[in-house]
Amino acid sequence: MNKILFNDEIVDRDLVVDIEDRGYQFGDGIYEVIGVYDGKPLMMKEHLIRLERSAKELQLNLPLPAGEMEEKLEKLAAANELKEGIIYLQVSRGTSPRWHEFPPDDTPPVTIGYTREEERMSDMEDQGANAVLTEDIRWLRCDIKTLNLLPNVLAKQKAVKHDAVEAIMHRGETVTEASASNVFIVKNGALYTHPADNYILNGITRQKIIELCEKLGLDVHEETYTVDALLDADEVFVSATKSDIIPILKVDDHVIGKGKPGEITKSIIGEFRKLYS
Ligand SMILES: *Cc1c(COP(=O)(O)O)cnc(C)c1O
Repeated sequence: MNKILFNDEIVDRDLVVDIEDRGYQFGDGIYEVIGVYDGKPLMMKEHLIRLERSAKELQLNLPLPAGEMEEKLEKLAAANELKEGIIYLQVSRGTSPRWHEFPPDDTPPVTIGYTREEERMSDMEDQGANAVLTEDIRWLRCDIKTLNLLPNVLAKQKAVKHDAVEAIMHRGETVTEASASNVFIVKNGALYTHPADNYILNGITRQKIIELCEKLGLDVHEETYTVDALLDADEVFVSATKSDIIPILKVDDHVIGKGKPGEITKSIIGEFRKLYS
């Protein structure tokens, strides 16, 4: 794991970030996490398309077209002999004297990619885990995958403190998503998940699940639902890259459904696993 992608080169991991990198000082940048299963990145194209969208929304120039980036990241994963884990990629608005406004147009973005080995979370996917509730205090452009993650960090810390795997966030009565994953509920055989608007990050895993549900003949409603509906759901699960799909058994002190992974959730997990095995 000692090689990294720095701009357009694969180099040794002994790089020092400039103190005036805008990613470091302002969180002025974007990122992606791509899962690698058995040496193969999953849905890399979709992640890079989202990276391009995030860049466009923030008027940030990407150093390479998505196609070339894909090639570089595949080379990086191969150089590190990554079998099971993630590729992390971030692009900041570059290094420039610290002023809030954009740096001069000719400031090149700073791109860094690295890999990390991570075990599959199959046990948690099979057994489920608990979640806590927390108010969603984020800004109004949650659809952009930016480096600004303080509200998410605080939410996740609350989860960890309560031995929970995730913090499910709500704006007032409306459930949005979790600190680093999307949330689905199942009620009377149908799925509900917050629509992909500016209040949530539209997960690649979320999008794939919706597609798989079509195949499984399950109805998915991309509609908002309340905290009460969440607590009253038959099944709840969260979805994100690499942790894939985790059934939620309890939210705060409320047991969800029968307090074990639901049948619909299990059928979706089964279908999702076919993507990489
Ligand atoms: C990345 C992320 C997700 C999950 O997206 P995937 O593409 O499925 O990994 C969900 N919510 C937030 C806030 C995220 O940053």
